Amino acid sequence: MRRVLWILGGLLLAATRPVFGLEAGVAVCDITPDVEAYEVPMAGYGARNGKPSLGVRDRLQAKVLYLRDGDVQAVLITCDLRSMTPEIKQAILKNVDDLGLTAENVMVCASHNHSGPSFYRARFWQLQFGKFDPAILGPMTKSIGNAVRRAHDSAQPVTVGYKKGLAEGFTRNRRWGYDEARRIADGETPAINPALSIVRIDSDEQEPLAILVHFATHPTILGADNMHLSAEWPGVLQREVEATFPGAVALYANGAEGDQAPAGAAGDDAYARVEDFGRRLAAIAIELARDVQLNPDVILNADRITPNLPPFEFSENARNGQYAHLMSMAEDQLPRYAELQLIQLGDWALVGLPGEPVCAVGWATEAWVRSAGFSEAVVIGLANDYIGYILNAQEYGHGGYEVDLRSYYGPGLGSFIGREAGRLARTVMAK
Ligand SMILES: [Zn+2]
Repeated sequence: MRRVLWILGGLLLAATRPVFGLEAGVAVCDITPDVEAYEVPMAGYGARNGKPSLGVRDRLQAKVLYLRDGDVQAVLITCDLRSMTPEIKQAILKNVDDLGLTAENVMVCASHNHSGPSFYRARFWQLQFGKFDPAILGPMTKSIGNAVRRAHDSAQPVTVGYKKGLAEGFTRNRRWGYDEARRIADGETPAINPALSIVRIDSDEQEPLAILVHFATHPTILGADNMHLSAEWPGVLQREVEATFPGAVALYANGAEGDQAPAGAAGDDAYARVEDFGRRLAAIAIELARDVQLNPDVILNADRITPNLPPFEFSENARNGQYAHLMSMAEDQLPRYAELQLIQLGDWALVGLPGEPVCAVGWATEAWVRSAGFSEAVVIGLANDYIGYILNAQEYGHGGYEVDLRSYYGPGLGSFIGREAGRLARTVMAK
């Protein structure tokens, strides 16, 4: 409906200003904490015991894609970090509070990098990833805020295309080994999602401005023994895409990666394997990006919902295991609501979820969003906040690390999140 009004409004105003069309701007910024000035513990592996990073292997970045169509704005920010916190998102928004951007139209997501800094205020997370100096947060959020402003100020008319392809052999299901005999007896097969999606945005001069790559798996080729900050394979992927399309900004968003682990990386050491994995995945992304059909007239919308989460609930192993003493702290400090966000680009939906959905939950969420009328749903994990792993009842029943150490809202969380994503998609569709 709004589209029709815009077109009518645009025709009436045609004598004085152009009809609305999609505009976009991009920016890149450095978010590497100063490891000389501060002790910077690393997030991702509890086995590091909160020890500070020993240096920087490669720089960490945030990428900003700013989109505007008339009075509708949406911003996607991707970061070489483990996960996101509402505190970081709010601080970014505060730095650009004159631009009309809100929590509803700004999505901030993390690559799930396991070689980035820890920056969690909650003692629950500090006990696992180390105590950090809050002074590292200011430069990081200021740098991202400035990048949002540069992207906003440089917005220009664009065309948009998207394409979904397959990257086979890059991921394995890391939860298959839990309860394997029962899985086989029940006729299960390992859930693996090889889908790789591309959103390409070109300037009026047909020069690529932004290429968003979406692929679901853990950046865990570097292990707990790596004590140097690195953007891991998503850093290599983005670097390679940018080298192929000079002038374009490559962004990487993770997907329903809760049970997906990187596979097939070759090399003599972990850094060589990171390079191999990132380069080969980039080659598939580049091929898809070259082949995208671009469209000048693409509807833009953004919205989010924040439903209350199901009550805290811990598995039997969690209640009886090494984690039991953290349970009341979890109830005090973990999120009480789930931030779900959707950016509509034409008939595609970018759906941000605040944690780590497993493959099956990703597919179920896609189905909910498509049932609202979108042709494709790109489920982005690690967006805006972190509520742990998001499993369905079947996976929850198989136990394992993701259930017994990183699930806080019981076996119904996955179906709850999928349903709510469907509700959000219907709300956006009705705009
Ligand atoms: Zn994870």
